[in-house]
Amino acid sequence: MSRRLLVTGGAGFIGANFVHHWCQVYPDDRVLVLDALTYAGNRLNLALVEGRENFRFVQGDICDRTIIDDLLSTENIDTIAHFAAESHVDRSILGPAAFVQTNVVGTFTLLEAFRQHWEAKAQSSDYRFLHVSTDEVYGSLSADDAAFCETTPYAPNSPYSASKAGSDHLVRAYYHTYNLPTIITNCSNNYGPYQFPEKLIPLMCINTLIGKPLPVYGDGKNVRDWLYVGDHCRALDMVINHSQPGETYNIGGNNEVENLNLVQLLCQMIDELAPDLPVRPTKHLITFVKDRPGHDRRYAINANKIKTQLGWTPSVTIAEGLRLTVEWYLNHRDWWEPLLSAEYQAYYRKNYL
Ligand code: NAD
Repeated sequence: MSRRLLVTGGAGFIGANFVHHWCQVYPDDRVLVLDALTYAGNRLNLALVEGRENFRFVQGDICDRTIIDDLLSTENIDTIAHFAAESHVDRSILGPAAFVQTNVVGTFTLLEAFRQHWEAKAQSSDYRFLHVSTDEVYGSLSADDAAFCETTPYAPNSPYSASKAGSDHLVRAYYHTYNLPTIITNCSNNYGPYQFPEKLIPLMCINTLIGKPLPVYGDGKNVRDWLYVGDHCRALDMVINHSQPGETYNIGGNNEVENLNLVQLLCQMIDELAPDLPVRPTKHLITFVKDRPGHDRRYAINANKIKTQLGWTPSVTIAEGLRLTVEWYLNHRDWWEPLLSAEYQAYYRKNYL
């Protein structure tokens, strides 16, 4: 079927990559992006699709019910891909209120609006509400624990993960209570083009390129699973098109890496790809800083369900994905330089200095 999609948060990192993917694979589908353009949203992330006949951008807040009602009905939306969120753990520690507002209240507002819209359309079986969430809702693992699966109990530890857990529960409840055709995905750490400079991989790439210290929390031994963003977008496409309503899928790259090892790997790659940098070898920039409060030790994802039920597997290895990402940041100075704004510097000082 051809779809009419509302993509919330489509000017952010994963949302924009998803919009590129969707417009390329389904050029006849209508794609409408709703994004508040917070510090993390950037209209330039959508430059590749702006101007297409089937694409429209609207600046607005997912907590604003009037805008959502209007877009759902005038655009006759049948599918919501919900990415909009406050997404950075460190900022949630410095200021949790925005996380509760956007992630919990915003998701609730979208669910209510979509429920009424879907009921007005005789509860069409083609409708879908995809809620894009995180593996952080499951809490922290120790070295010997089994990876998170879809039935792992929720145990969020940061205001970010708690607000995402709250939104996941609301989405689940709307399926069970109203039969709203929702699907939840919980994915591990993404990386790739268009990721805002505050996140680990772009932070390390950019600081290396400008000769600033590379801040590594604590002992650097926290473990994350990494997935290239394009592989996440392919998984979300499969979920929208082939999953049954009410399902939950874990998505991960099966690439567990300690933070310090990841930073060392990036330094090695950057030394190779950018031989003219002021500080070389760039690993000399690595600086250990005070650990993040409540820092989860390890995340790991068991993605067997999506692999066996929908046939998804990651296509990019971590070595390939990191190289693509480093090359992208090397070639897109004009994209990231303006993002190192006074607001960003103020956040950076509060967080690391
Ligand atoms: P991001 O911070 O890069 O982008 C978020 C986008 O949402 C921005 O464009 C921002 O302007 C927009 N937004 C924020 N508040 C809004 C509001 N009230 N109304 C409308 N738009 C608003 O985030 P991301 O990394 O692209 O993450 C997207 C989604 O994927 C999030 O829900 C996040 O929890 C989830 N997720 C992210 C990762 C990851 O590694 N980045 C992993 C798993 C899940």
